[in-house]
Amino acid sequence: MSKRILIVGGVAGGASCAARARRLDENAEIILFDRGPHVSFANCGLPYYIGNVIPEESKLIVADPKLFQERFNIQTRVKSDVIAIHRETSEIEVRDLETGRLYREKYDALVLSPGAAPVRPPLPGIDLPGIYTLRNIPDSQKIRQALERKDVTRAVIVGGGFIGLEMAENLVRRGLHVTIVEMLGQLLPPLDPEMAYPIQKRLCDGGVNVSLGDGVAGFEPITGGRIAVQTKSGALHEGDVVILSIGVRPETSLAKSAGLEIGERGGIRVNPQMQTSDAKIWAVGDAVEVRDAITGQWALIPLAGPANRQGRAAADAICGRDSTFRGVQGTAICGVLGLTVAMTGASEKALKRAGISDYEKVHLHPNQHAGYFPGVKSIGLKLLFRKSDGRILGAQAYGEEGVDKRIDVIAMAIQKESTVFDLEEAELCYAPQYGAAKDPINLAGMIAANILRGEMEPASWEALEGNGFQLLDVRDAEDFAQGHIPRAQNIPLPELRQRLGEIAKDKDVCVCCGIGQRAYYACRILRQRGFRALHLSGGYKTFLSYRDAGCLKLKTGQ
Ligand code: FAD
Repeated sequence: MSKRILIVGGVAGGASCAARARRLDENAEIILFDRGPHVSFANCGLPYYIGNVIPEESKLIVADPKLFQERFNIQTRVKSDVIAIHRETSEIEVRDLETGRLYREKYDALVLSPGAAPVRPPLPGIDLPGIYTLRNIPDSQKIRQALERKDVTRAVIVGGGFIGLEMAENLVRRGLHVTIVEMLGQLLPPLDPEMAYPIQKRLCDGGVNVSLGDGVAGFEPITGGRIAVQTKSGALHEGDVVILSIGVRPETSLAKSAGLEIGERGGIRVNPQMQTSDAKIWAVGDAVEVRDAITGQWALIPLAGPANRQGRAAADAICGRDSTFRGVQGTAICGVLGLTVAMTGASEKALKRAGISDYEKVHLHPNQHAGYFPGVKSIGLKLLFRKSDGRILGAQAYGEEGVDKRIDVIAMAIQKESTVFDLEEAELCYAPQYGAAKDPINLAGMIAANILRGEMEPASWEALEGNGFQLLDVRDAEDFAQGHIPRAQNIPLPELRQRLGEIAKDKDVCVCCGIGQRAYYACRILRQRGFRALHLSGGYKTFLSYRDAGCLKLKTGQ
């Protein structure tokens, strides 16, 4: 007898589950339900459709119902809202949104991929016209229509996460004056603040007004159809359009009313085969809780890659294949005004939150390709690894080129449970225009491995908030004169061996330079001559990011 597989939600997780199930079982009857007018559309492309980078709506449709039918023999029912699951009879109840007709369908296997809905807090004025959220093609059409009005010149984006920043870039592209209002003290909350700061700077340099550490209190209509976004501090930001991008909440109402287990983070609880607490029901995508691959904790990580892979894993399980979903490590990327920022694995904040103290970090600023080749750009890279065995825990990077490649390599290394010693040894492709014979990945591994082998001892940037150390800057006098860490003493590297008498032997000596390389050489000299030299990784450049992101509380007079 052929199996009846019903899938609720026909986009990332649902559509890939349907297609995979068909490839595995030619006899199954597969029906995909979506309450929206489309299935399998590119939600990730929506900000670029609004920005006219993707001018045609049709390009957002990855596969339409005709293709599903003809290529996969999968039935799709759009504008069909699944309103209940009757577990006792293995049926779902569907409302046809065009006719209002209610009907039931029986399932042998049911897959829930309903996604996550944008958060809309009940703030005063939240329902004013001109306030938008972005989840699907109809949402993006509404925003595009609003932008067609000639008098639209200002936009306020509430929330500085990935979608908020992509919207900021695209609205700047459309010629709008953009303000981003973010409640936290930094943009891109999954990143560590000093790694998110360069994006903030790029936005400010590009004319975007960034307001941090100030939550929205409400919205008020003002003259000319504008909206005033009021913040808790009392500030007012005016916009002709307001985009709410303050996060998403898993769509769990169906699962909850069917009595399926919901986890501690509010997502549907599933096992590694993506099966819910009911053996006939699977759930995938933004609606489920996942195991964070690094901290082991339950997490909500709404990303397209995991949703697709989970859809595939669920189809495998339904069709009797032995496959498991490995967990999520939060590999994500965002491009803003020519600067790319990406991350994989745990941030330092996340490690601290999870109570993990067995970690070390290095910052570095290597060139993305050989320094002598024209057009060289640097990458800011932060690597987190376990102190006890060198296992890689996470990485974050920003830069104009080559960021995606480095984070992808580290993402794979994390999945394979590799160590910094593996990064040291990684053999990566190299020609001058693409990389370096010692790739940034190798360099990050070497610096981290030097620490673990005891050849270098890192100083934490936070240590600068104290007093019990001598701070030595080994850059040339001219660089030093242009800016340095308060209280630093300058002994240029070429003079170091002759001027050792000026350095304290009874104190830790924190050694700094421009990006960390010369400080490493200096540390090696000093340590072999009996000094307690500690290395400030990432150098003055990293100091500036920490300071400007507001992470360092240096004492006055320092
Ligand atoms: P979705 O793709 O959201 O699909 C859920 C579908 O289920 C919806 O169409 C909904 O209408 C339907 N549905 C819900 N309930 C019912 C019901 N009861 N009955 C019938 N249908 C129902 N991720 C990245 O990794 N990279 C990016 O660059 C990126 N950019 C993004 C940009 C935007 C603007 C948005 C909104 C998301 C972006 N994401 C990105 C996130 C990514 O799109 C999601 O993680 C992914 O689509 C989740 O897949 P899903 O199948 O769980 O849910």
